[in-house]
Amino acid sequence: MHFHQMGIMVMGEVGREYGLVVLGGGPAGYIAAIRAGELGLDVALVEKGLLGGVCLNSGCIPSKMLLNASHLVSEMGYLSSIGIRTSAGKVDMKRLSSECQRTVARLRGGIAQLLEKNGVEVIEGIGRFESSGHMHIKEGKSSRSIRFRKAIVATGSRAYVPDGISIGGNIITSREALFLSELPKSVAIIGAGYIAAEMGTFFAELGSKVSILARSRLLSRMDADLVREVCKQENIEIYEGCSVKSVKGGKNVQVAFEREGKLGKVIAEKVIIAIGRLPNTENIGLENTQVRLDKDKFIQADYKGATSDPRIFAAGDVAGPPLLAHKAFMQGEAAAEAVAGIASAGFQPTAIPEVVFTSPEIVCVGVSEEEARRKMLDVRVVRLPLSAVGKAVSTNAQNGFCKIVHSPKGLVLGVHMVGKGVSELAAGACLAVEMGAYLDDIAGTVHPHPTLSECLHECAQLGLGKPWHYAIARKK
Ligand code: NDP
Repeated sequence: MHFHQMGIMVMGEVGREYGLVVLGGGPAGYIAAIRAGELGLDVALVEKGLLGGVCLNSGCIPSKMLLNASHLVSEMGYLSSIGIRTSAGKVDMKRLSSECQRTVARLRGGIAQLLEKNGVEVIEGIGRFESSGHMHIKEGKSSRSIRFRKAIVATGSRAYVPDGISIGGNIITSREALFLSELPKSVAIIGAGYIAAEMGTFFAELGSKVSILARSRLLSRMDADLVREVCKQENIEIYEGCSVKSVKGGKNVQVAFEREGKLGKVIAEKVIIAIGRLPNTENIGLENTQVRLDKDKFIQADYKGATSDPRIFAAGDVAGPPLLAHKAFMQGEAAAEAVAGIASAGFQPTAIPEVVFTSPEIVCVGVSEEEARRKMLDVRVVRLPLSAVGKAVSTNAQNGFCKIVHSPKGLVLGVHMVGKGVSELAAGACLAVEMGAYLDDIAGTVHPHPTLSECLHECAQLGLGKPWHYAIARKK
């Protein structure tokens, strides 16, 4: 039993009690703190690094800024084809990096302000549970203990680096890859998930030669027909089904692999390791609480974030996959509302959208075609090329398609899209799945013209056998 549980005061203990302590200031943590502040709780948020977590500082936000830049560069050829003269896009990586840092710092300032306005006390320090009611916080050279009635663990995740590979020099993770001062001539990426696909797109669009070493195939959890569009990208070579044997650093890194029984190697200026992430559940004192972990070291938490410790909740990456910021936001809110004891539905969505910012972009909402065909006896799939949509054709976004997976009666089970700019359509598709929409509902909703969103409408029309801008071959 811990001293606190025996009622013994520990030397140096401040003894201040908070209604809620949130450990970790990423998407789950800061939203939990803001929501709890809105609900009038006395909240402290403990963060050892930067507010905004990986998402803001070394993930979603900087990577999307970089990808926006590289997508623009990749449109130079198109611009000249429609009569706009451009000089070859030469990339100043130092400038791009510093602009990225500036944007991130601005958004970070915004989060600090939101926390302050909601009465959240931000403590910059390393927090560690001493018990289910006490947290030790190391702030630089000093430290203190605080008490709490409830806590939310939102410590996030970190890149998984397997034994035998050490990060340093030209062997990097996505964190370092986001802020390079020079554009590498060649990049090899081990892994074939979100990060490999997005970082690969970024470097390839700027002109680096990219090799992706995939254990199975690129974005293996998504329908192959969606991913095929991304694989057409220039400057990217994908080695499918390979098992990496060694990674040797130096001025150029050598990656040796085995594929179909044969040995091969790729030499690149930079090697990015992107084979998934591990939860940050170590070194935070969870062993001093009743919180239980699953076999992959994620915290076992329910739809309200409740763990096996009645005083401790969890949200975001630590609470298990998918490791997505939008899931973290929602779980942060659900946990804060559960802590405050207000009636809420918690977080139990029908679908969590997945968006990959490649070129073209991929959106997956709900049940995939491959999964539906595996698991269901009777499913229907309707697929509309984006070239059926005027806005797509007129804005160089005609490559790709929208597909709806639905039941025989038209219940929308999944919406999947690949194309330039489709990321912005993900929310509409998600609303349809979440609300149990039928094809009729989408077809009966006015979609503004001319917008790319018409692909959803037209796809539903096609599913109902009455397309406007797409001809069905007539039976003779
Ligand atoms: P992912 O989980 O997306 O993908 C992991 C990849 O690593 C898979 O391709 C997997 O292959 C491969 N892999 C696993 N083990 C090995 C191995 N030993 N050797 C070779 N390949 C291996 O992880 P990422 O690192 O790409 O991304 C981390 C997280 O960040 C993701 O969970 C994602 O949710 C999030 N993220 C989200 C983004 C977005 O929303 N747009 C953007 C970037 C990141 P296999 O397919 O065979 O299992």
